[in-house]
Amino acid sequence: MSEKYFVQPDLKFIDEITGLGAETLKKCFQCATCSVACPIAPENSPFPRKEMIAASWGLKDKLISNGDIWLCHECGDCSELCPRGARPGDVLSAVRYAAINEYAQPKILSDAVKDPKKLPFLIGIPAIWFAILAWITMAGGETMTKLFKNFGVEWSHGGHDVIAHANFVSTWFVDLTFVPLAGFVVIVFGLGLKNFINDIHKNAVLEGKTDKESIDPKGFLQAIVKVLPTILKHDKFNKCEANQDRATAHMMVLYSFIALFVVTNIFFVVLYIFHIPGPYSQLNPVKWLANIAGVALVIGSALMIKNRLDKKDQVSSYKDWYILGLVFALGATGLLTEMTRLAGAEYLSYFIYYLHLIAIFNLFAFLPFSKMAHLVYRVVAISYAEYGNRK
Ligand code: SF4
Ligand code: SF4
Repeated sequence: MSEKYFVQPDLKFIDEITGLGAETLKKCFQCATCSVACPIAPENSPFPRKEMIAASWGLKDKLISNGDIWLCHECGDCSELCPRGARPGDVLSAVRYAAINEYAQPKILSDAVKDPKKLPFLIGIPAIWFAILAWITMAGGETMTKLFKNFGVEWSHGGHDVIAHANFVSTWFVDLTFVPLAGFVVIVFGLGLKNFINDIHKNAVLEGKTDKESIDPKGFLQAIVKVLPTILKHDKFNKCEANQDRATAHMMVLYSFIALFVVTNIFFVVLYIFHIPGPYSQLNPVKWLANIAGVALVIGSALMIKNRLDKKDQVSSYKDWYILGLVFALGATGLLTEMTRLAGAEYLSYFIYYLHLIAIFNLFAFLPFSKMAHLVYRVVAISYAEYGNRK
């Protein structure tokens, strides 16, 4: 006997996803063309038609905890073919962002990141913070040197005869800001993912999308290892047609972040373990990697912005522009900081570095709350689909 399901429409949820880019939602007349058109939907209970029905009824619980929304790569094939212009790809994107808001706590931060009126605060807080740190570094250098000597530690990591950004904002301050921030990001993601995995598993069991009764951590880890090459090669993305040009730009941004993560960690070790301060030679291979990653980040994010501007019919909401603008700003300020330093424009270089620090702070601190969090949720959902034999 089939289970009874009491429909409890959540009108606030419909309003929420409408504001996040799902304004075409009500045009759907449930023809199922989208589920047939989607090149990556599984045969058993395919998406996105069932999600369109759930969204138009405001069935928040059926959507937020639905792992399928993360299997969608926002390629837009279904939106191109939808005879009603309901743009199911954009609706799923809005639902995913609502899910990020649900799982990322504290709520005050997720609400701030999705509200354009709060942007001045999100920028203003790190702007004031780094201005204070720059002032202490530049005005209080001698006092800090004496203070650090008491602990037998070098205060300055910057040379005096070269332009070094550590002379503008001390490396200690930069790391004392970003290392605890990294811990905060890991904790927010960890708590969110714990609930997320439980929810998508319950949903999959309820809807008959898995043959697994419980989650075995070892099997789940094996599934992550198995799907990583597919994710890194963007195999699923490449199956799509309408937005295939986005795959290249997406890969450039993804690999840039991976490379910059590696570079940052190498320089961290070089500084604190081997006590070799920057700036490092342009002939250093790690520096090459950083420069190539910086250029790829700027080009990749610029291509993504161009793609959105060209596709006038595609819904692009604040959440999309916030993250695209931030990634571009991060790459551009990073490269300009380097170029102005090499050109000998000391104070201009410091100013651009200041903007760069604000961009890093924004991207990093608000990572679990912004659209960028899809990096983590999608990897987990795809791994769960592999683990649960979702075919
Ligand atoms: S979103 Fe479009 S293609 Fe999909 S079921 Fe609705 S009307 Fe049909
Ligand atoms: S946007 Fe692409 S991946 Fe997502 S449901 Fe539509 S066709 Fe499938």
